[in-house]
Amino acid sequence: MSALKTQVGIIGAGPAGLLLGHLLHVNGIDSVIVENRSRDYVIDRVRAGVLEQGTVDLLVAMGVGAGLQRRGLRHDGLYISFQGRRHRIDLADLTGGKAITVYGQNEVVRDLIEARTATARPLYFEAACVTVGALDSPNPVIRFRHGDADHEIQCDFIAGCDGFHGICRPSVPAGVLSTYERNYPFGWLGILAEAEPSSDELVYSCHERGFALFSMRSPTVTRLYFQVPPEEPIDNWSDEAIWDEMLERMTTRDGWQPHVGRIIQKGVTPMRSFVAAPMRHGRLFLAGDASHIVPPTGAKGLNLAASDVLVLARAMKAFYGRGRTDWLDEYSDVCVRRVWKAQRFSWWMTATLHRFPDETPFDRQRRIADLDYLTSSRAAMTSLAEQYVGLPAEVSFESAGL
Ligand SMILES: Cc1cc2nc3c(=O)[nH]c(=O)nc-3n(C[C@H](O)[C@H](O)[C@H](O)COP(=O)(O)OP(=O)(O)OC[C@H]3O[C@@H](n4cnc5c(N)ncnc54)[C@H](O)[C@@H]3O)c2cc1C
Repeated sequence: MSALKTQVGIIGAGPAGLLLGHLLHVNGIDSVIVENRSRDYVIDRVRAGVLEQGTVDLLVAMGVGAGLQRRGLRHDGLYISFQGRRHRIDLADLTGGKAITVYGQNEVVRDLIEARTATARPLYFEAACVTVGALDSPNPVIRFRHGDADHEIQCDFIAGCDGFHGICRPSVPAGVLSTYERNYPFGWLGILAEAEPSSDELVYSCHERGFALFSMRSPTVTRLYFQVPPEEPIDNWSDEAIWDEMLERMTTRDGWQPHVGRIIQKGVTPMRSFVAAPMRHGRLFLAGDASHIVPPTGAKGLNLAASDVLVLARAMKAFYGRGRTDWLDEYSDVCVRRVWKAQRFSWWMTATLHRFPDETPFDRQRRIADLDYLTSSRAAMTSLAEQYVGLPAEVSFESAGL
């Protein structure tokens, strides 16, 4: 068994773990990242793609924004489509110039892995049998197997950045965490297609047959989704049937529709809202999907992971620099406030745009009225815009050492 020591042991090399590792590096704080998947698997995983203004600013301020600035697609607005008409919401105009940027999560992860590698700080891929222990003690430990060797890392702190299905949250003793959960009676069938995006901005479509979303990953790749039953087997859908359904739900009266192309990836993702709090137990700090999940409608999951670790980096910097522990103590409260606002927004977007299986004619008319109000009232559009581009962070970049 090899015995290592570090200041912060990080479980998971998704956006939360990699961002935290780099924020700590910028502040001269040691970390070891332990990931159970391979490097290629982590990079190739197709997930989120919408970055809030604050996430873009954070990546740039951390010095890992070069790829994002070169290849990211800035969107100043988005469309809401219903009853056959698209209505544009001008995000930049309504928020004093803020916008969102489309840049795939896999690109973010690739950039962060390259940045990590350049720092020469440890990052173990394909770690097996990962466990955490002694969470209540001053020296919590991470144990794992890598290749033929067993490792134990003694840490000052452990950051549980291992996603919804990770081991950190379940390692917290029973009764410590309160959990809040809502499962939705639908999921998203998502595709990547080799097709030039037919709109420069996202189109959220509310159709009689259910929700659909037009988005993109690059100038040559379109990313599309539509609502299906939650357990829908992807094999039920031939490529031809997927395109028929996409076009049916998205085509507007003025003839706008997505360009059709070869489907290069497809899958079904269930929709869930979930919060586990507090986001700390002893010397274990949970961040990102390890602690909360939002349905993807509001595009908040990756952005929440980024804002969590900004708060955590601030607390670690103050602890190592000045011996302050109050920001560590506040970590969960500060994050959870933002998490619940994002939960509320994501739930509202989901409930307003999707067709629920038990929807009554009254529910449907109320939803249409909601969309009518949203797209005709500057106050309503401003509310959506400020949440979509991201509510202001409670923590400044300067306080996190940037
Ligand atoms: C299938 C899927 C599709 C999604 N699609 C969208 C979307 O279209 N739009 C959107 O806005 N959001 C989407 N999201 C949400 C968004 O991608 C997440 O919010 C984001 O990835 C959160 O980052 P994270 O670092 O907290 O967690 P993750 O990205 O899940 O990273 C956790 C990391 O921990 C690793 N890990 C897990 N268990 C262990 C272990 N025992 N030991 C070591 N490492 C471990 C995992 O392999 C992973 O690399 C999607 C999420 C999923 C799961």
